[in-house]
Amino acid sequence: MATVTPVTEHLLRALGLPEAEGDSKDGRGRVLVVAGCTQLPGAVLLAAEAAMRAGAGKLQIAVCRDLAVPIGIAVPEALVVGLPQTPDGGIASACADDLAGRAGRSDAVLAGPGMNEDADGAALAAALVRGAADGDAGVVLDAGALAALSDAPGLTGGLARPAVITPHAGEMAKLLGQSREAIEADPLAAARAATDRFGTVTVMKGGRTHVVAPDGQAWCYEVGHVGLATSGSGDTLAGLIVGLLARGAAPEAAALWSVYAHGEAGRRLARRYGGIGFLAREIPGQVPGILAEVM
Ligand code: AMP
Ligand code: MG
Repeated sequence: MATVTPVTEHLLRALGLPEAEGDSKDGRGRVLVVAGCTQLPGAVLLAAEAAMRAGAGKLQIAVCRDLAVPIGIAVPEALVVGLPQTPDGGIASACADDLAGRAGRSDAVLAGPGMNEDADGAALAAALVRGAADGDAGVVLDAGALAALSDAPGLTGGLARPAVITPHAGEMAKLLGQSREAIEADPLAAARAATDRFGTVTVMKGGRTHVVAPDGQAWCYEVGHVGLATSGSGDTLAGLIVGLLARGAAPEAAALWSVYAHGEAGRRLARRYGGIGFLAREIPGQVPGILAEVM
């Protein structure tokens, strides 16, 4: 059986990370976050803040119309675009071409946190991938955007860099058409299957997180804290990855640095509070210090 490398500080240093001290905000990368619905606006904040804490230079957020003003006030760093809305409070796929253009003008794109898992979400994600392919942007697909892959398995084939996907076991079960129990019984095999099928860097999240790259390399991170199993936690992980992609990290480096920083943030917060009970919104603030220490 092929080896699985543990994610350690030593590994991350060997992989490297682009310098954070680029001399302009454009130089540190433009992120586009397409996320949320009226029932899950907080996912947008969590992912967006994480992208900035990972060191990205500029942030654009695209949300359904009802969320644009509140999100703009909650994330004053961002340019916020309000888009046509579906009756159930998601982004309507009528704006797919607009989003594809925005993706093409970005350095990295994240789609999915807090997004409805419906046909609109899948169509939007597909349009974003097409736009990213035109402009050589990095791509992260999470949560509601993952359905685009099942609809069109060859979707990410045109990208200059492999897309990163970040399913938890339930999402992976849907992606592969297997039971959640089967995924949990062998998460590494599931990650490999997803990478084979979709050509992605696959981050199979859980108490143990496996990362698989298209060339077959596999890594495992298993020393995070159980308190990370909390609402919104995965949204911050996806935000970290897109932030590092925008800075110019390769997809597998962005995934591995983010998995480590997310896990280490959980460990530090657990020490501060004496165990579980820390909040997902507290994770991103830990990250700059962790990145600086490991680099
Ligand atoms: P999500 O389900 O999308 O919110 O993602 C949950 C995040 O928490 C992922 O990054 C998981 O790897 C992490 N996580 C979930 N359960 C545990 C656990 N028992 N120990 C450590 N990390 C976990
Ligand atoms: Mg999630």
